[in-house]
Amino acid sequence: MSYVLRGTADGGNIRFFFADTKDVVEKARSLHNTAPVVSAALGRTLTAASIMGLMLKDERDVLTVQIKCDGPIGGITVTADASGCVKGYANNPYVDIPLNEFGKLDVFGAVGNGSLVVIKDLGLKEPYVGQVPLISGEIAEDFTYYFTKSEQTPSAVALGVLVDKDLSIKYAGGFVLQLLPGADEDTIKRLERRLGAIPSVTAMFGDKMSAEDIVMRVLKDFDPEIMDKKEVMYKCGCSREKVIQALMKVGKKELSQILAEDKKANVHCHFCNTDYDFNEKELEEIIAAL
Ligand SMILES: [Zn+2]
Repeated sequence: MSYVLRGTADGGNIRFFFADTKDVVEKARSLHNTAPVVSAALGRTLTAASIMGLMLKDERDVLTVQIKCDGPIGGITVTADASGCVKGYANNPYVDIPLNEFGKLDVFGAVGNGSLVVIKDLGLKEPYVGQVPLISGEIAEDFTYYFTKSEQTPSAVALGVLVDKDLSIKYAGGFVLQLLPGADEDTIKRLERRLGAIPSVTAMFGDKMSAEDIVMRVLKDFDPEIMDKKEVMYKCGCSREKVIQALMKVGKKELSQILAEDKKANVHCHFCNTDYDFNEKELEEIIAAL
């Protein structure tokens, strides 16, 4: 089960989210058959978005993260909601590039330059849109920059995905730490020192540590208090009924045109890689129902 631990530390000056997202990222990998570097880039984005979904106030609120970039991955889209459902895809799942100079998956090489866009649909007339340029292309630093710059909340973000020899996901997870207005210089300095001294998230999972153990390791001496544990799962809510509803919104004229020209229609869901095919008779029925 993938999950996120939420809580506070340092007497409420720090709020934290620690995630174990192995199952979510493995589901994405198996659905999209992603190459290792794409599993890493998409997995890091899914992990950050899972956490950000849980930051939303209302169960019906939905968040979309887009990485618009010029690298061979072509872009990443992830959506998450406050109930712990998350889904996403990369425009090109089959990026095959060499490891970087540190012998690691070259996420920056796959992503390149571009921007990180966060769209929050909070049920208001207009969605909230925040956008920052990608400052590293390694994803975690980009989210750190987004929180600090666009949401004015000083934050530390760590994200990690380890791909196994058989290409399945061995470990995936990460954390977001946010400084709340009460945090003083001393807390900030101590936290910076700590973050500079801890191993990577995947190294800690590799040491058989659970997300709970990682909270205690990272926030030792900051009196962390875990408030709750929330399950997150990869879930696409698409269905044939919803696709028919969407087709109906296309309109009678356009659908009749598709019917006359192609005698069929195909709708592809990028999030779960499902094809919905409609033959001539089915299209006629949809048009007749309008
Ligand atoms: Zn779907």
